[in-house]
Amino acid sequence: MKKAFLISIGNELLCGRTVDTNAAWVSGRLFAAGIETQSVQMVADEVADIVEAFGQAQRKADILLVTGGLGPTDDDLTRQALAEFLGVPLVYRPELAETIEAFFTRRDFPMPLRNRAQAYIPDGAEPIDNPCGTAPGVLYEKGEKLIALMPGVPDEMKAMFEESVLPRIRKGQAGPVIRSANLRCFGAGESALVEMLGDRMGRGRNPLVNCTVSEGIITLQLIAVGDTASTAECLLAEHRGQIEGILGPLVFGAGEETLQDVVGRVLVEKKKTLAVAESCTGGLVAKMLTDVPGATGFFRCGWVTYSNQAKITQLGVSETLIQEYGAVSEPVAEAMAEGATHKSGADCAIAITGIAGPEGGTEQKPVGLVYISVRAGNICQVHRFLFANAGRAAIRRRAAQTALNLLRLQLTI
Ligand code: AMP
Ligand code: MG
Repeated sequence: MKKAFLISIGNELLCGRTVDTNAAWVSGRLFAAGIETQSVQMVADEVADIVEAFGQAQRKADILLVTGGLGPTDDDLTRQALAEFLGVPLVYRPELAETIEAFFTRRDFPMPLRNRAQAYIPDGAEPIDNPCGTAPGVLYEKGEKLIALMPGVPDEMKAMFEESVLPRIRKGQAGPVIRSANLRCFGAGESALVEMLGDRMGRGRNPLVNCTVSEGIITLQLIAVGDTASTAECLLAEHRGQIEGILGPLVFGAGEETLQDVVGRVLVEKKKTLAVAESCTGGLVAKMLTDVPGATGFFRCGWVTYSNQAKITQLGVSETLIQEYGAVSEPVAEAMAEGATHKSGADCAIAITGIAGPEGGTEQKPVGLVYISVRAGNICQVHRFLFANAGRAAIRRRAAQTALNLLRLQLTI
């Protein structure tokens, strides 16, 4: 199996100002493609250091993936370092200069002279198209060895990796074919989920099922190995179907999908609109929903009714209800959702009221207590949660995700 060596270039990485997210992302994508990352190294913006790292990488791995140092400034030295490492000059490629200039022209901006530096690449190397920025990537292939230089800006790097670098790596990949898929789950703890899957998660199985948790979302990654693409794909599809059957509604999506992506998609499919009324989440649900491209198609509006007064005047919650039960209560959550649907004319509503802490908790109403009301059509459900007191941010995030998940379940089951 081929091995990769990753080099992240930039002084900002070594002094801790920027976290090296590029290497983590690239190694994750390589892993899914069946390529093992042998090492990750951070290197300063110094030609000699970069050349030395290239030498070390070349001895240890077949694939060398480099990010950073392709910008137009004097500290961007990766191109020079590769030329020196290969023992070739940097050559000016007029077609690259044209592409870079066109990038600026499209933005009604004259190209700064120093961006011309990005049109130089080592002799014998190929430029890689950069769909999101000015810095072209650089690809050099000789025999079994492949070197790719990509920009440091994460979004530019990711697009270039997916569109050009990974397909190129795959082309040279001999032997077994690897196919992978993610199942995204919410609503159960990691251990409960692992228990449900039993020995399907055993080591050495094919497909292999890996489990990672990030911010309450559990991602199951299935990796199938086959002699041909179709055997790997069949194996993957079969096990994926079985796991989806076992986990049922705990699986909300695939790939990198978020809860808000799925809620948005379902609302659009069902031609429904949504309004939100938030208290302790302070607009987080509205923010998450409007992160989804095309949110105009389903999102009507949101209220952040933090004070009692706002709940009364903006949403029409009755004052006596708040006096009798308190702002953090089931009837108030229900009234907030009703007010949001009524005032906005939306088909569905989410309302959240709770105590995010660190202050404000009592014995009857501790920090972490959250009421979530979900209204879809004429059905309104109110749920009470006591989230673990893992800090204000975690409680707010958990409440927002749970609300989105409840709406998803109410719309799809
Ligand atoms: P560069 O291509 O070296 O000019 O990098 C441009 C910007 O991308 C830097 O200022 C950083 O903010 C970011 N960046 C560079 N390398 C990394 C990395 N390994 N991980 C995350 N961000 C990075
Ligand atoms: Mg840099």
